[in-house]
Amino acid sequence: HARRGTVMLYEIARSAAAEQHSEIIMASTIREALDRQRLTLCAQPIAPAANTGSVDHYEVLVRMQDDRGEPVMPAAFIPAAERYGLMLQIDCWVVDEILLRRAHQVAGAGFHFSLNISAEALGDSGFQRHLIEMLEHTPIPTRRIGFEITETAMVNQMDRASEFVASLRQMGCKVALDDFGNGLSSFSYLKAFAIDFIKIDGSFVREMESNVVDPIIVESIHQVAHRLGARTIAEYVESASVAALLHSIGVDFVQGYHIGPPLPLEQLLYVGTQLENS
Ligand code: C2E
Ligand code: CA
Ligand code: CA
Ligand code: CA
Repeated sequence: HARRGTVMLYEIARSAAAEQHSEIIMASTIREALDRQRLTLCAQPIAPAANTGSVDHYEVLVRMQDDRGEPVMPAAFIPAAERYGLMLQIDCWVVDEILLRRAHQVAGAGFHFSLNISAEALGDSGFQRHLIEMLEHTPIPTRRIGFEITETAMVNQMDRASEFVASLRQMGCKVALDDFGNGLSSFSYLKAFAIDFIKIDGSFVREMESNVVDPIIVESIHQVAHRLGARTIAEYVESASVAALLHSIGVDFVQGYHIGPPLPLEQLLYVGTQLENS
């Protein structure tokens, strides 16, 4: 048995080493993508639950290409980016792309856009100053810019984040608590500062129809949000029937493949510009 234990430990150590190795490779792929402008942006629609056909709000999501030009999804590269301290650079790139480089196109499109802020960026005073300065100078009205901050990011950065979040809101930007309910102590953040949106974690939404607990959780989160003056967004809405159920509960906005998948940002900005010129 001792021998088998040793073999198992060896196996565990070997797979951990393999994982670490692939993360090191992924981290260098990300650094290269940052250097060589191989990041791109997508935007996914967020619609009022009452009228899923009217969309004027999009969440901006980053995409990466590897050295062979193959697309890599965030699920595959964000863990490595987090571990190797690259999320700050990624979020900076996204901020500059939207608020600076494509700002005139974005402003012309007339939509609301929400950007994700990682824990690393959230707690970084340089990033905070940079973002505030960008917001002061961008041609996009700040009321059309929102930020999504996950519960996990909040846990780690509570002290350094609350004042920053307050100043973003003072500038007219909307702030959303992302993946709400997915962490351990979601409700405590609601005491720390005011927010505009609560995004109900997709894990409660996905199987809402086949599960008796999920609708109860969704409804409870929604009620707490409303009593605090925040509006709710449900993510991972994949069918018309789930959208209808969310609407009947009173949830304000829906996002998910049923409304629309993330599309390349250029596509959206092009359509927006066409509308503006017509
Ligand atoms: P998130 O912020 O919760 O974003 C929603 C994710 O769910 C997106 O995946 C989106 O494509 C996916 N999704 C949307 N609707 C559906 C649906 O109906 N069904 C299913 N199965 N999935 C759906 P994506 O784009 O792969 O992003 C994954 C995560 O990566 C994001 O989760 C966010 O945490 C992070 N992320 C993406 N872009 C950025 C960024 O620019 N900055 C930061 N800090 N994080 C980002
Ligand atoms: Ca998000
Ligand atoms: Ca989310
Ligand atoms: Ca998520």
